[in-house]
Amino acid sequence: MNLIVMGPPGAGKGTQSRWLGERLDVPVISTGEMLRDEIKRKTALGTQAKRHMDKGELIPDALMIRVIEERLKRQDCKRGFILDGFPRTVAQAEALHRMRASLGGTIERAVSLSVPNEELLKRLSGRRTCRECGAMYHIIFDPPTNEGLCNKCNGELYQRDDDHEDIISSRLEIYDAQTAPVLEYYRKHRQLVEVDGVGGRDDVLDRILAALGVAKS
Ligand code: AMP
Repeated sequence: MNLIVMGPPGAGKGTQSRWLGERLDVPVISTGEMLRDEIKRKTALGTQAKRHMDKGELIPDALMIRVIEERLKRQDCKRGFILDGFPRTVAQAEALHRMRASLGGTIERAVSLSVPNEELLKRLSGRRTCRECGAMYHIIFDPPTNEGLCNKCNGELYQRDDDHEDIISSRLEIYDAQTAPVLEYYRKHRQLVEVDGVGGRDDVLDRILAALGVAKS
């Protein structure tokens, strides 16, 4: 199954994509994580991406499309995949449509998680991410067992630069201006599945599975 998981920053795309990936046994491709890894390794792409990410802006379409095209050609995507954080513009959605056609497949569903803005602000400002494995926590709603350390790999937890309050509001504005039209694109193509993203992690996952018609386990 080829799926897209969409939603504003803080809607739970990353968390739900990981659970869905395990449940469906397909790789999860997170463009945000790929870019953070490039930054950590100080590559040319990482340096270019950081300039935009630190300001909460999107990476230019041409660059992002090249990155995702290379990734989707890899063998592990042949059985299906989940895209977390791509496409974020209509130009990216159109490019994805073209590349899937040439790779011999289609996107079956675009899952959109909806969460009100006040809730997103609370979630993002308390979010902490593991530097090593990318796992996410929340200092109030989902704290790690040992403060500042990842439960899974003991890696250091940090607050992403773009999760600071001043940057969060510009990320939300960019979502409304550039990514919300992508929902319309998938609605028009009858591929959009809208899911309420408010509530516990398991409840939201159950709603997604029900909306996709996939059995719970
Ligand atoms: P995320 O981890 O999905 O919240 O992404 C973090 C940041 O990475 C975004 O705010 C953008 O700066 C950048 N980014 C991730 N995916 C994309 C994309 N598909 N197009 C442009 N920029 C992206």
